[in-house]
Amino acid sequence: MTTTATTEAAWPADTVARFLTLGGAAVNLRTHTFETHYTTRGVLCSGGAMRTVAGFLVECEGCGTRLSHRNARTDGEPYLPNEEAEAIKDANDHAAVCRAMPRSTLTAAPEKSTIDSAVDKLVARYGEDIAFLAGGHSGPVPIPAEGLTLATFADLVQDAADHLESYPSVGLGSEADDLAEAASRLRAALDAQADHQDALLTLAAKLLPAATDAAQELRLAG
Ligand SMILES: [Zn+2]
Repeated sequence: MTTTATTEAAWPADTVARFLTLGGAAVNLRTHTFETHYTTRGVLCSGGAMRTVAGFLVECEGCGTRLSHRNARTDGEPYLPNEEAEAIKDANDHAAVCRAMPRSTLTAAPEKSTIDSAVDKLVARYGEDIAFLAGGHSGPVPIPAEGLTLATFADLVQDAADHLESYPSVGLGSEADDLAEAASRLRAALDAQADHQDALLTLAAKLLPAATDAAQELRLAG
């Protein structure tokens, strides 16, 4: 069948198995490296120690549920290396009862415009200061009032952080750190799913006032 071939072609490399929910969404079983309180054999580490293990993540693209292994200490804790069979069974069981439909096809269009308008708001609020900082000695970088992409905005914020780092004498290290952190959250938002994307943009927005503070300091100094 052609549909099967298309779906198979779209499988990411780390996907071990996929199960179809009643609503037509996929439950993905993927290899996943994570930190856990258990050893690779599923024995609890003594003294609260953590291990990094290569196990399995089971996530439903329809309802967003992340299944947890049997002895998980937190919700959604991935399956341990020796629990592949259990992960397969749980993924199949979830798919058999989950009626969620795929989210990507439903939210793709509105998601983009929401993000674009969120970026426009951040540009309206902090764009001038970020352009000033990103330009450094050569003067403000020209930026459009609207329609700047998230990727370009993230790069500009990173440039602003880098330029601040290059003025060690003015003591704006913590502002530079905040802007670098904001840039990394914005870049993470590029790859995130819609709900997580909002959270990352909110976190970035909380760090961006550092641009206004730093720009004021530099304008006074310069
Ligand atoms: Zn589900």
